[in-house]
Amino acid sequence: MKLRHPAILAAALLPLALSFAIPASAAWLDREEAIMGTRVYVQLWSDDPDKGDAAIDAVMAEMRRIDNLMSHYKPESQLSQINANGNVRWVQVDKELFDLIKLSTHYSEITEGAFDITYASVGYLYNYPAHIRPSEDQIKAALPAVNWRNIEFDEAHHAIRFGHPGMRIDLGGIGKGYAVDRGVDILKARGIQHALVTAGGDSRFIGDHMGRPWLAAIANPDDPHDPKKVVTRIPVSDSAVSTSGDYERFFDEDGVRYHHIIDPRTGHSASKVRSATVIGPTATQTDGMSKTAFVLGADKALEIINRMPEYDAVFLTPDGRMLWSNGLRPPAARPQGAPPAPVPSDPSRVVPPAAAATTATDPRGSP
Ligand code: ADP
Ligand code: MG
Repeated sequence: MKLRHPAILAAALLPLALSFAIPASAAWLDREEAIMGTRVYVQLWSDDPDKGDAAIDAVMAEMRRIDNLMSHYKPESQLSQINANGNVRWVQVDKELFDLIKLSTHYSEITEGAFDITYASVGYLYNYPAHIRPSEDQIKAALPAVNWRNIEFDEAHHAIRFGHPGMRIDLGGIGKGYAVDRGVDILKARGIQHALVTAGGDSRFIGDHMGRPWLAAIANPDDPHDPKKVVTRIPVSDSAVSTSGDYERFFDEDGVRYHHIIDPRTGHSASKVRSATVIGPTATQTDGMSKTAFVLGADKALEIINRMPEYDAVFLTPDGRMLWSNGLRPPAARPQGAPPAPVPSDPSRVVPPAAAATTATDPRGSP
């Protein structure tokens, strides 16, 4: 074929050729989805929007995979199989789930039993959206089944069984942190160097936010959804932050708050703090530790945190105090009634306090 207007054709092709030569512009990308009965959020910096989008797809798919394995709301999950059959026989599960259950008992050990996935033996009697709580008699009957030491492990076969009747387990207190860490592994393997992965109260940060730390906001327990009321912001890079609060899943009755963190010793909601934020290397670790102060109290929990150099913590007590671990310098004291902390000049690096947005299918959140 003979080209009749070669000059015009060349001119028309030029922009196309240039668009191949210039790399697609680097940008922050983000996405939010409802998975594991909560809000999952990923934000990352990518040189190539298509690759960035594919990386977010992969993180969301991983979260769904973990939910299918570990949710106690899904009858077909391996965790539900343990709960359904663990009282009568060994239940063989994937090594991944076996290892996370084993790790959970390690957190029980270091938190002196405050973190205990067998809390679910009584915890299942609560339904916060429906304002349902167990009677004292029901709690008394269920409580003997709460004891992490009665989870039995068959290392050779990755099998689990319960050594006491009526036991149940629930990974709601560690599964989101674990899922966040697996999401971070995926992003790192794809070369992402600046990112945030959040599931419910658990977040982990890769790198910093354009040369400055990310700022993890701690909510005001009385007004957790108002970003203007956050009580403080903690600068973080390359670490995880988990916040547990009595304002996430709860109902109030006769002046008492019934909420989702249960004292394994009493079967009641644990109320020694209103909010606990733990900072550490991985979200599995910070998630496992963030329930401790609710059960043991801020002083005891600080003692435990201060013994472990890789962790820091901030606790808000019912009488309005803010307590900091040794590794965090307290902010300048603001007088009582002073306005909230000023808003930073670059709000895009502020990570809002996690608000567990429960979905209709998983009313109480999982795993
Ligand atoms: P989020 O689910 O938003 O990350 P938390 O990290 O505070 O919130 O975890 C709260 C969940 O932990 C509860 O919904 C429940 O599933 C589980 N849980 C409650 N009490 C305990 C406990 N004493 N030990 C271990 N897990 C617990
Ligand atoms: Mg959590």
